[in-house]
Amino acid sequence: MVIRAALDEAARCLKEKGNSTPRLDAAVLLCHVLGKDRGYLITHDQERLAPAAETKYREIVAKRAEGMPAAYLTGEKEFMSLSFAVNEHVLIPRSDTETLVEAILEENELGTPRIADLCCGSGCIGVSLAYYIPGALVTMVDVSEDAVEVAQQNAVRHGVGARCRFVCADLLCEQVAGEFDIVVSNPPYIETAEIAALERDVAEYEPRLALDGGADGLVFYRRLAQLAPAMLRPGGLLALEVGHKQAGAVMELLAADFHDRETVCDLAGIRRVVMGRKNG
Ligand code: GLN
Repeated sequence: MVIRAALDEAARCLKEKGNSTPRLDAAVLLCHVLGKDRGYLITHDQERLAPAAETKYREIVAKRAEGMPAAYLTGEKEFMSLSFAVNEHVLIPRSDTETLVEAILEENELGTPRIADLCCGSGCIGVSLAYYIPGALVTMVDVSEDAVEVAQQNAVRHGVGARCRFVCADLLCEQVAGEFDIVVSNPPYIETAEIAALERDVAEYEPRLALDGGADGLVFYRRLAQLAPAMLRPGGLLALEVGHKQAGAVMELLAADFHDRETVCDLAGIRRVVMGRKNG
């Protein structure tokens, strides 16, 4: 079978199963199997696939058709123009979260900050900050040992391993205590009862631990609002990603200990980030 026919067959199969981006997914998966980029598929559309490649392609297309996210099948996801390793132990980096990273990068006078990324998952936030802020020292924390391993791998992949530190813990613990300039987090924030109603690809495949924000979705924000003041220097920045409709509640949670509180919208115009500076 030639490349063009393989793509057509895969796209048809994905579409039948309700996939909303069948051609894109068909192409992304074939690039992965062949180790080539999208341009190659276009310029070599009459090239014959080796039998082993064809079999492998059919297998992963079938898994995608069942709902397994493409990023778990390829083991990669692009975030902040960097390619991150992902597996089923970490949330797949979202473009929404780029709003959070960009908001921090836009802060003036970053210098060489000491940064804590709490609930780091794949490390997409902490590693991007280390990559784009030369000299930043980043501590990444996650309760999942498997996630910490992925974050570590991503730091090495992007050449910032020497400036990153990894701690397996549930938010703050003695190993993380200290005077940070920036505390950042994209914690789990989906209301427990809402998880089942998420898209199947998310609800069935992404780690529940990375999604579940408790009954009202705000459990981690309450804990962070309490813990972060002890971690930050006076004037230090707390920057949090929040879910749809959570910005107001989180702004209020930060009212007691933070000033210059503001929200930043994502590309869809949703208030996606809440930031503030520690009083004192
Ligand atoms: N910080 C990681 C991300 O933004 C993981 C977030 C999480 O597990 N809730 O993708």
